[in-house]
Amino acid sequence: MSNKTILILGGGIGGLAAATRLRRLLAPEHRVVVIEKNATFALRMANLWLMTGDRARPEEGERNLSRLPECGIEWVEAEIETIEPDSRMVKTRAGDFTGDHLVIALGAERHPQAVPGFAEAALDLYEAQGALAIRRALEAFDGGRVVIVVARTPFSCPSAPYEAAFLIDMVLRRRGVRKKSQIAVYTPEDLPMPVAGAEVGAALVQMLEARGIEFHPEQIVMRVEPVSHTLRFELEDTKFDLLVGVPAHRVPAVIRQAKLADASGWVPVEPDTLQTRHPGVYAIGDVTSIRLPIGMYLPKAGVFADEEARVVAENIAAEVAGKAPASRFNGHGFCYIEVGDDMAAYGAGNFYGIPAPIVTLEPPSPRYRLEKHEMERTAQSLWL
Ligand SMILES: Cc1cc2nc3c(=O)[nH]c(=O)nc-3n(C[C@H](O)[C@H](O)[C@H](O)COP(=O)(O)OP(=O)(O)OC[C@H]3O[C@@H](n4cnc5c(N)ncnc54)[C@H](O)[C@@H]3O)c2cc1C
Repeated sequence: MSNKTILILGGGIGGLAAATRLRRLLAPEHRVVVIEKNATFALRMANLWLMTGDRARPEEGERNLSRLPECGIEWVEAEIETIEPDSRMVKTRAGDFTGDHLVIALGAERHPQAVPGFAEAALDLYEAQGALAIRRALEAFDGGRVVIVVARTPFSCPSAPYEAAFLIDMVLRRRGVRKKSQIAVYTPEDLPMPVAGAEVGAALVQMLEARGIEFHPEQIVMRVEPVSHTLRFELEDTKFDLLVGVPAHRVPAVIRQAKLADASGWVPVEPDTLQTRHPGVYAIGDVTSIRLPIGMYLPKAGVFADEEARVVAENIAAEVAGKAPASRFNGHGFCYIEVGDDMAAYGAGNFYGIPAPIVTLEPPSPRYRLEKHEMERTAQSLWL
């Protein structure tokens, strides 16, 4: 059996989960190579804690990828400039690489410029520095209208804008300025977390209403006017004093150039094996589009990237060992939804359910919030 090289493109959640599993499953003579442009890794769920002040600095949640070689994983610190899927070749400034198998885990790129004025006016919840800027703004906030706007769908972590709303409510209550403030969520979605179904969505709307948080569904923002503090939607306008934004997402440029994306804008894969239409090339995590029987797409979340990584790693390891790849992704997933006051709700279910996903929502409890923090620690210690 000749030595194989597995190239993993991207060292975020999916890439690191795939690399560490492959390393455990493959004999040492086979190479596992992660190509990632950033030197550090952090779970972005921590942005919410940066926003509330529960976490002081982004560096507290960061791990250095230079530790990968200690685990027998090679790390190339470089931007991937070209992907040639048919030959499984990748070009970077640090050189060209060819793999026997390719795992594309390049995630979603934030594209705030998709909405004119957004980058100038909105504090970006999806960047660590943006989350810190929201914290500073909340600390100085003396009452007024806080708007959380979701620019476009799809976006990573369907619960994040709602968690932000709940947590901002908590921060303003603790500061004694909640009664002088309004909090409103504007989103193109018809319900919060629509793929999870009408019941989960209605329960979340109720939780928003119980805290006096406005919910404005089916609102597509056309532009933001930073000077007049106005959001212009298709049919109406609203004013804001503080704007918290979830930017538009798209695939990284290298994926667009490689023509790996379909009409959905994302990389289509087989739902159970994550195989692309190119032999030996898999895609996992936020970069993919997996169409569900209801016509919607599998949400973009770290738990799915992690589980998809497991399936792909097991199947590649089986192939390398000359066995039939038998692992299958079954669409199961979960999320912890922070609601403030050290509590989180818990949503879980089968997103591949037929005819529709079967997802339930457990009411908020301190236990789920602890489990969420534990999830970060476990992921970090497993991977780095
Ligand atoms: C505020 C917030 C809260 C969240 N909370 C949760 C949660 O509670 N639970 C949950 O499951 N998910 C959560 N998520 C979503 C989760 O972070 C993503 O779904 C997950 O990171 C996707 O993993 P991925 O591997 O597909 O992509 P990523 O983790 O984004 O990794 C992609 C990697 O590819 C690299 N890359 C991109 N282009 C190139 C290139 N050209 N060359 C080299 N490297 C490149 C990037 O630098 C990045 O490191 C949250 C997200 C946000 C923003």
